[in-house]
Amino acid sequence: MNKPVYLDYAATTPVDPSVAEEMVKYLTPDGVFGNPASRSHAYGWQSEAAVESARRQVAELINADPREIVWTSGATESDNLAIKGAVAGHDNPHIVTSVIEHKAVLDTCKWLEQHGVEVTWLTPGPDGRIRPEQVSEALRDNTVLVSLMLVNNELGCVTDVAGIGRMLRERGVLFHVDAAQAAGKMPVDVSALSVDLVSLSGHKVYGPKGVGALYVRRSPDVRIEAQIHGGGHERGMRSGTLPTHQIVGMGKAFAMARDRLESEMAHLEELRASFLQGLSDLDGVTLNGSSEFRVPGIINLAFEGVEAESLMLGLRGLAVSSGSACASATIEPSFVLRGIGLSDELAHRALRFSFGRFSTAEDAAFAASQIVDVVSRLRAVR
Ligand SMILES: *Cc1c(COP(=O)(O)O)cnc(C)c1O
Repeated sequence: MNKPVYLDYAATTPVDPSVAEEMVKYLTPDGVFGNPASRSHAYGWQSEAAVESARRQVAELINADPREIVWTSGATESDNLAIKGAVAGHDNPHIVTSVIEHKAVLDTCKWLEQHGVEVTWLTPGPDGRIRPEQVSEALRDNTVLVSLMLVNNELGCVTDVAGIGRMLRERGVLFHVDAAQAAGKMPVDVSALSVDLVSLSGHKVYGPKGVGALYVRRSPDVRIEAQIHGGGHERGMRSGTLPTHQIVGMGKAFAMARDRLESEMAHLEELRASFLQGLSDLDGVTLNGSSEFRVPGIINLAFEGVEAESLMLGLRGLAVSSGSACASATIEPSFVLRGIGLSDELAHRALRFSFGRFSTAEDAAFAASQIVDVVSRLRAVR
């Protein structure tokens, strides 16, 4: 059976073959398999050197100092560490976030709310963007943290992190940004942005699953409390033996992302344009989220008069999703689409198409023609 065309890069990306090639050098007896924390022999030193080289590669993509990178198991853990770690030790803390964050942020904030932390849940405009004034108005004397994502995983829209960060720096409030969908897809420069904590994931950038990082600003010094204890790795912020092969993979993937950022963005802009062009014969198609402030690879579309469930079933040749991977077991409409003000009915008509490094012009043309066929067919039998 022919595999469907993969258009779900926002859910995960395949590991780039050169990344995989690098990773296998850090597993077997003939490779660099030592514990990077072993100080007494060359096996440990070699692993440590590999980990530190990857730390530089990850830091370089976001223009950070390598000492500001803490390894984690993925962006979910980074989000947990940033938010719980920043709130810990404060009396009566208040945090500000939005209703369209990734579940890793939403559920962490909900859990904290159940444990006595005050949370303000901001609602974005129809473009999916939170405005700096909204954040500013939500601040209180006891606000310790604002957590907002840079690129939304369902809509692809980009938050005004620069504007919000400037304001928060003046007000002395910490700013956490989930950049899992932004790294490698748009320029991210933590030196230019007033952000304090940034979550990153390996597997959204052609690295392996199960590894991520948290950027923790050193100047001005940001203090967070560890959430995993035992051994004091990562300068006490995150204990656990470092998975050298995963870390080397993420480092290589981030170095490749840096080298290719411009050409990859141009490639995705082209695919986006031809995909949308291919759909232009179809009436009643609307783009969800900002058409101006967005990354090129994520396209969320609503189809008038067509249920997304039926459309997805009809699109046998395409691997797509209606939004976040974790929500696909339920047929509840996406909380993100509801969060930007879509009715349940409209939210049920939307699908997310996400393109990536290995997508081709043929994929984009094939996807568009499949959609035109299936949507026309479904509309005809209404
Ligand atoms: C995928 C994703 C995460 C979770 O990352 P994992 O590495 O899979 O834990 C968090 N936030 C956003 C915005 C994501 O897209």
